[in-house]
Amino acid sequence: MKLTQKLSESKKPLFSIEILPPLKGKSIQSIYDGIDPLMEFKPAFVDVTYHREEYIYKKRAGGYLEKVSIRKRPGTVGICAAIMNKYNVDAVPHIICGGFTKEETENALIDLQFLGIDNVLALRGDSIKTEPSFVPELGGNAYAIDLVKQITDMNKGKYMDEDMTDAAPTDFCIGVAAYPEKHFEAPNMISDLKNLKAKVDAGAEYVVTQMFFDNKKYFDFVKLCREHNIHVPIIPGLKILTGMKQITALPKIFQCDIPQPFYEELEKCKDDKAIKEVGIKWCIEQSKELVKANVPCLHFYTMGTSEATKRVAKEVF
Ligand code: FAD
Repeated sequence: MKLTQKLSESKKPLFSIEILPPLKGKSIQSIYDGIDPLMEFKPAFVDVTYHREEYIYKKRAGGYLEKVSIRKRPGTVGICAAIMNKYNVDAVPHIICGGFTKEETENALIDLQFLGIDNVLALRGDSIKTEPSFVPELGGNAYAIDLVKQITDMNKGKYMDEDMTDAAPTDFCIGVAAYPEKHFEAPNMISDLKNLKAKVDAGAEYVVTQMFFDNKKYFDFVKLCREHNIHVPIIPGLKILTGMKQITALPKIFQCDIPQPFYEELEKCKDDKAIKEVGIKWCIEQSKELVKANVPCLHFYTMGTSEATKRVAKEVF
């Protein structure tokens, strides 16, 4: 079912999760082990992230270095199919521009349609580690909006080959990303918002936010969006802080602030166990306030922490 339909039919905020494919070589059981404990909260959908290739250098005989392309976490589409089959819950694959030509994107979307996937999250993707900034594939989409336009075209039966005049239209509900604390490349919030509005005008029907730890940032962002005529559902993304390293890693990777009152509590912790308790408590408070504000859905970036997510969900749903 389309997420927009689910969101509009629900009278209270829904619960949803995002998972990462396991590292290459690990079994899909690790995915099930992460989802099983959360099924009692009836997730409205499960997002599955997409991880593009990375380049590493391998030392070969004679001492020369060979540049090798590896994908550490393949399997997004297969995991979506397996989740839908096992749990009868909607799985939402993340689709990125990076590393795909438009034709490869078209073919991937055809696979998704044949699998009965109704929703996709359309993203640009980040630059690969060996590149200073994002470089689109030759013949690929440069920004998320270009990907949204391609999917919208397919929804209208317009494929890349203009000779295909009677192609069956796809029927994807398209989600896009947004950043309550601004995307790190955007010169300012207003320019970022204009680009978000362009994605919505091009066919995106819902938005999922980057993680944030200060609800005020989300509420202010939603207000700004409405003032800029962005009227689609804006789903808050939540991450439970569970370890010492995350105090500096999360702001660095995801450009989100740790609010001072939260930081003061984290500072008192001696180990990861104590950090996790503070992180769970903070997320419960965040979640309760968001539910009270009647947000469309609470979307948890589980990153393999289903036990912490379960403890939050138990208090909130
Ligand atoms: P865009 O919307 O294209 O925006 C990127 C930047 O370009 C912004 O600064 C924007 O303001 C600017 N911009 C947009 N359009 C234009 C234009 N036409 N001209 C000039 N500037 C423009 N990454 C992954 O690799 N895999 C994932 O599974 C994944 N899942 C994610 C899920 C969520 C909910 C979020 C919030 C992020 C996710 N990411 C993922 C990370 C995301 O790919 C990066 O944040 C990326 O840098 C931006 O993606 P975007 O879709 O927001 O890009």
